[in-house]
Amino acid sequence: MRRPLVMGNWKMNGSLSSNDSLLHALSRQLKDLDSVDVAVCPPFIYLPQAIDLCESTRVRVGAQNMSDQDSGAYTGEVSGDMLRELGCTYVLVGHSERRTLYGETDQAVAAKTEKALEAGLVPVLCVGETLEERQSGEMESVIGRQVKAVLERCAISSFTQIVIAYEPVWAIGTGETATPSQAQAVHAYIRQLLAAEDAEIAERCTILYGGSVNEKSAKSLFSMADVDGGLVGGASLKADSFSAICRAAAQSL
Ligand code: PEP
Repeated sequence: MRRPLVMGNWKMNGSLSSNDSLLHALSRQLKDLDSVDVAVCPPFIYLPQAIDLCESTRVRVGAQNMSDQDSGAYTGEVSGDMLRELGCTYVLVGHSERRTLYGETDQAVAAKTEKALEAGLVPVLCVGETLEERQSGEMESVIGRQVKAVLERCAISSFTQIVIAYEPVWAIGTGETATPSQAQAVHAYIRQLLAAEDAEIAERCTILYGGSVNEKSAKSLFSMADVDGGLVGGASLKADSFSAICRAAAQSL
């Protein structure tokens, strides 16, 4: 049985005072929710604050990105070891905004995934197709390429440590959510890709859905057989909405 996971991707949002209010409210609202794993991913600069405020709560903390290098002359980069030392549990790798705006290739994302595992972090591998790719029937080949790039670099056994987030690019930040059956179909396809290597590992791998999830859409999405929770952007910035989404994950059990 896979344990539901709900993660908030704050993107480049927040301030010391708004983070403080949000995290205090979340820790209050989620304190009895012990059947779901919950995490937030603030910008790098706020990680120490979030780790500190979440220390004795149910909420874990992740970063939104990391370097594919260990250390050295990589100005502006942050390594997996640094994140782990700080107290991060998760790190997003290959978010579509990183792939599109910063040119991250499948190979770079695979290298980051491998480094995250080496550092003892849980990489949250984001994959997803654009609207054009979906409309031209390329959805499976795009997702297949993104997942296989990581399988070429990381052993299938590491997929008990890796979380996959299916985030159709056309649904991120647009208010347009995939229907539960659209999400289920892609999640099942991803699990099938893993099962071709090892059926037992495929069953154990956590696969999240992301793309305009809100308190209204969460329950029906999370009730699908292969949807194990969500990666939430906009709605994770409001404590009431994010808590309601976390509760929807608990109801899907
Ligand atoms: C995201 O940033 O990963 C995301 C899913 O954003 P939103 O929920 O705002 O679409």
